[in-house]
Amino acid sequence: MGEMRQATVVGAGIVGVCAALSLLEKGFAVRVVDPDPPADGASYGNAGVISCWACVPQAVPGIWKNVPKWLLDPEGPIFLRPAYALRALPWALKFFRAGAADRVPAIADAMLALNHPTIDLYRGHLAGTGRDDLVRDSCYVHVFRDPAMADLNRYEWRLRAERGVPLRRVDAGELHEIEPDLSPDYTAGILVERQARAVDPGGLGKVLAEKAASLGAEFLRARARRLIPREGGGCAVETDGAAGTVEADIVVLAAGAWSARLLAPLGVTVPLEAEHGYHMIMRDPGVTANNSVLDMGHKFVASTMSMGLRCAGTVEFAGLDAAPNYARARVFERLAKRLFPAVNTADTEEWRGTRPSFPDSLPCIGPVPGHPSIITAFGHGHLGLTMGPKTGQLVAALAAGETPNMDMAPYRVDRF
Ligand SMILES: Cc1cc2nc3c(=O)[nH]c(=O)nc-3n(C[C@H](O)[C@H](O)[C@H](O)COP(=O)(O)OP(=O)(O)OC[C@H]3O[C@@H](n4cnc5c(N)ncnc54)[C@H](O)[C@@H]3O)c2cc1C
Repeated sequence: MGEMRQATVVGAGIVGVCAALSLLEKGFAVRVVDPDPPADGASYGNAGVISCWACVPQAVPGIWKNVPKWLLDPEGPIFLRPAYALRALPWALKFFRAGAADRVPAIADAMLALNHPTIDLYRGHLAGTGRDDLVRDSCYVHVFRDPAMADLNRYEWRLRAERGVPLRRVDAGELHEIEPDLSPDYTAGILVERQARAVDPGGLGKVLAEKAASLGAEFLRARARRLIPREGGGCAVETDGAAGTVEADIVVLAAGAWSARLLAPLGVTVPLEAEHGYHMIMRDPGVTANNSVLDMGHKFVASTMSMGLRCAGTVEFAGLDAAPNYARARVFERLAKRLFPAVNTADTEEWRGTRPSFPDSLPCIGPVPGHPSIITAFGHGHLGLTMGPKTGQLVAALAAGETPNMDMAPYRVDRF
């Protein structure tokens, strides 16, 4: 037997950690480089929806009609810092183009291919950790105040139904049986059945990182400053840590919203945008969400987790380096009371995280053109918790020189 091949994963978010586990399965010696502890970025505070049926991109036909309304509402789901508007424009144009009726079906298929295997893959990764409780069976309960809006004939629901997503419309009676603490003002629901949810997304990432470490992965607490592809193959990662520059056969770039900055010096540019999001935890809520509950009016998710009731969502375009604006998180106090009138908001905690988003709601998974020793695994936008395990599996297969048994073209780095 020859020497083990070395893979260095840059970024210890859920995507990097899942990649590490799959690379270990393929027999690689694995090193993970991150200045922060595992799953402390976007992967820490997301809404925990393991959305195995997700196939509706953020951009769908006609979405532009909603944008003015959303932007003008200070409590609306989207916020654009005025000073950032011009810089966001090229991305926004690509976003609206990706939402064209003739492009969405292929994007939907490519999303589903990454999302659908996730529950089994998570359960496989959790095997032996004793923490299978971190991923629970769940419905995705979409709740409406106006029953006329709960219409399965709408574009988004048809897109799902055409792909076999198990959908069911429920009236007020059944909805309140499923979620008894929900306000009576919500009078209809659409259930996406047979899903799962993470009851501590950050904890899930950390437990899987511990598993990877126990299987031999080395976690280096350092920032990658530069990727240096080597002439004869392989790639070095220059870090700011004591380890200095580390050599690898394969580098997996999984640094979330920061990934594009490591590619730019290689002459590779990608339209990756930082979509900040927020959450608020009510620590002693006195109410329970039995499932992932999505308020369809305000586009945020409420879910009972191990640390309390977490309300998470909103999109803020302000640039990667912008400081958090926690007023965006405090909106959830009022929204949570609309959803669950009995909720106790005396003890709360706020958080911001940054989604790494491409205009077409798909990540980049695959080799960097001209630099085959660097494999990208970033840009999972609103669905990285869900897409992480399949992404990890694909990256490991590519690293091992295998041809994945699915069409990889939708995730190409040079598709834009
Ligand atoms: C409010 C909100 C709600 C969400 N809800 C859901 C949901 O319900 N379901 C779902 O599937 N997804 C959800 N998401 C999306 C999901 O959280 C992200 O897509 C996912 O966490 C991205 O994972 P990642 O590993 O790519 O990035 P991250 O978790 O951000 O990890 C990137 C890591 O890279 C590290 N890094 C950065 N630069 C460097 C460098 N130079 N060198 C080394 N390391 C570096 C960072 O320190 C970080 O640890 C939500 C996101 C938000 C913000």
